[in-house]
Amino acid sequence: MSHESPCLSCGACCAHFRVSFYWGECQSTGGTVPDELTLQISSHHACMKGTQSNPPRCVALVGEVGTRVSCSIYENRSSTCREFDILNEDGSANEACTRARALHGLPPVSFDNDREDSAA
Ligand code: SF4
Ligand code: SF4
Repeated sequence: MSHESPCLSCGACCAHFRVSFYWGECQSTGGTVPDELTLQISSHHACMKGTQSNPPRCVALVGEVGTRVSCSIYENRSSTCREFDILNEDGSANEACTRARALHGLPPVSFDNDREDSAA
């Protein structure tokens, strides 16, 4: 397992942004995200609990940012989480990822080696 995702030793994005999404993604409205881990922030949107706090940290994030992390609802996470990645769709570096990492004292992800997947 030489090409582990950098996300597994990061988690900065889960402890930097307010992670919001359409309310219909919650389980009670037919989606996948457990309602008890969310807050309704408008008539149409919810966010992951903890990501609205200062400092933010998603309640579903397990582990220590910058060391070892995982998402406790990985299979059920929102589209916002699924779509956030190290790279943009065009293959360029995601500047928001770099910014979140920097705020946690982490360098930008290196693309020197082939990358297989991301996991946060
Ligand atoms: S997408 Fe970027 S900020 Fe988020 S966990 Fe992965 S490397 Fe860290
Ligand atoms: S990927 Fe998981 S831990 Fe990170 S913000 Fe989304 S739900 Fe929270």
